[in-house]
Amino acid sequence: MAKEVLSGLYQLKVPIPNNPIGFVLPYLIPGDDGYTLVDSGWNTPEAFAALEAELDEVSVSFDEIKRLLVTHVHPDHYGLAGRIKEICGAEVIIHQRERDFIRSRYRQPEQLLERMATWLTENGVPEDEMSELQQSSMPARAYVVAVEPDTVLWGGETLDFGVYRFEVYWTPGHSPGHMCFYDRAQRTILTGDHVLPTITPNVSLHPQQMGNPLGDYLASLKRLMPLEVEQVLPAHEYSFTDLQGRLTEIVEHHDQRLDEMLAIVGEDGATGYDVASGIVWTTGTFDTFSFWMQRAAISETLAHLEYLVYEGRVYATRRDNVVYYEKVTQEE
Ligand SMILES: [Zn+2]
Ligand SMILES: [Zn+2]
Repeated sequence: MAKEVLSGLYQLKVPIPNNPIGFVLPYLIPGDDGYTLVDSGWNTPEAFAALEAELDEVSVSFDEIKRLLVTHVHPDHYGLAGRIKEICGAEVIIHQRERDFIRSRYRQPEQLLERMATWLTENGVPEDEMSELQQSSMPARAYVVAVEPDTVLWGGETLDFGVYRFEVYWTPGHSPGHMCFYDRAQRTILTGDHVLPTITPNVSLHPQQMGNPLGDYLASLKRLMPLEVEQVLPAHEYSFTDLQGRLTEIVEHHDQRLDEMLAIVGEDGATGYDVASGIVWTTGTFDTFSFWMQRAAISETLAHLEYLVYEGRVYATRRDNVVYYEKVTQEE
C-alpha cells in the first residue's frame, strides 16, 4: 500500500523475496516535470509487479518517472534501476563513490573475487570455509540490472523538485557513497539504510571499503545530529519521528559492540574470524548464519577492530600472513 507521507510524496513498499528484511521502501517525489523515484528494489518479477501496482495505485505511469535517485548501489536499492531506465529512460543519479562499484560487483566480479579470497584468508577464515564465503554475494547479482549513472552527486548539492527541495548529505559508512536527502522546510529526511528505526545497518570493512568505515559511519551519524527533523523516511521498516534519539541509540550500540569485541580480543589477540564467531549477534550466533551472513559478520567485526586500531586501543600484527588484533597495554 502506497502511503502519502507529505503532500503528493509517496512511500511505496516493494517486497524483497526470501530475505529477513522483508521489503524496501522507495519514495516517489512529485516535481514540475514529472516524478523522482528514490530507490527501487530487487529485480525479481514479484518486486517489479509490486512496484508497478504501487505506482498504479497512485496513478503514476513509468513514463512520468523522470529521475531515479539511488541512495546506494546495494541490490535492494539499485536492482531494478536498469530495468526502469530501459522502460522510461529516466535519468539515473548515483553518488560518485558508488559508481565505481557497478563494474567490479555487477559486471566483472572476477578480480574482486580474487581479492576477497586473499582478504578472507588473511583474516583467519579456515581453508574449508573459504570458497563458500568468497562466493556468498554472487547470487545477489542475479537481482541487479546494472546501469551506469547519467549524473553523479558528491554531496552538498540541492535538488529542486517542484515544491520540494532536498539537500544531498553524503553519509559514508554503510556504503562508501551512501546519500541521505533532507528537505529543510518540510523537516523531513530520507535516510536510506543509514538510519533505520530498529535495525542497525551493516558497516563493513572489505576489499572495496578499507580505511575506517565505522569511523566514517559514526561521523556520518553525527552530521545529522543538528538537523531539525519531524519525519524520518528510511528505506526499510517504517517512518519515525525522533531522529536524534535514534542516532544516539545507534552510537551506543556500536560502543557496546566495541567493548564486547575488545573482551574477545583479550590478552592473547584474535583474528577477525575468531572475534566474529565469538560475538552474540542480535540475529543469532555465527554458526547458525548463512554464508552470506557469516561474511557480513566477519566484515562488520573487522570494521569495529579497525576502528579500535584508529583509536589506539588495539593494534594489528601479522603472523604467518594472518592478521591478529592485540590489545594495546599501557606501559607503567
Ligand atoms: Zn544497503
Ligand atoms: Zn537496504
